[in-house]
Amino acid sequence: MKIFRTIQDYRAWRADEKSRIGFVPTMGALHDGHASLLHASRDQGLKTVLSIFVNPTQFGPNEDFSKYPRTEEKDLEIAKVAGVDAVFLPSVEEMYPENYSTYIEETRLSVPLCGKFRPGHFRGVTTIVYRLFQIIQPSKAFFGLKDLQQFLVLKKMVEDLNLPLTLEGVPTLREPDGLALSSRNRYLSTEDRLRAASIYRNLTALCDRTATFESAWQDLEKQGFKVQYLEERNTADLSPASGEEKESAIFFAGFLNQTRLIDNVIRRKPNL
Ligand code: AMP
Repeated sequence: MKIFRTIQDYRAWRADEKSRIGFVPTMGALHDGHASLLHASRDQGLKTVLSIFVNPTQFGPNEDFSKYPRTEEKDLEIAKVAGVDAVFLPSVEEMYPENYSTYIEETRLSVPLCGKFRPGHFRGVTTIVYRLFQIIQPSKAFFGLKDLQQFLVLKKMVEDLNLPLTLEGVPTLREPDGLALSSRNRYLSTEDRLRAASIYRNLTALCDRTATFESAWQDLEKQGFKVQYLEERNTADLSPASGEEKESAIFFAGFLNQTRLIDNVIRRKPNL
């Protein structure tokens, strides 16, 4: 497994690489959810490139950038086991030299939900992912549906800017009690970890129409969550669900003490 820390070194390898490349961008602190993206790429016969970069521009001033878990040695072990061909592991200085001043912004799908509660977040995400696409030069990139809004924003960026690659969304990997795997789950106390299962329980109840948004919101607050949003939206454009759309998703974000968790479930209309 090759490891590259500079753009120049990666480019030298890429120049001689004739195979199609499958790309999995991450912020590290890898878990089985990340591994499922790596396997999706490997299973399609693609040479697989993983990037690990905790991107400062997608964190707000009061968010957890400096505290975000960094577990490089373990990440490289997981990558090796998953059959990764190359890892791109740049420093902050490599990606944002002192005079850096160019940003990419999607202006519709990035407005509601996390866009409302994390100003500047998606601008940071689209900027870094666009630049990683330019560096890595993949045929295909894999993203988790756990971050569904992120996936939809990035798909729109690829479409609007005619980028020469396709994106694939990979289903959310969950713990046995339904909690979506996340690098941030490690911040949860034992008690909060148990309470966090109420996210998926409520999302599935809303999806089955066995709960109302009011009762689900109340239940989550009773479990200790400070709910930011709990909303159903059309996955085509993230407009509020009308009941007429082919596919919608129910989105959640909230804090359990200091830890912010997000999740969603996708709801397909039968016979449409
Ligand atoms: P992150 O390192 O949190 O930025 O995530 C890197 C990629 O892994 C993103 O495309 C995430 O959507 C994806 N991912 C994170 N958690 C999961 C999960 N539980 N199941 C599937 N994909 C995930």
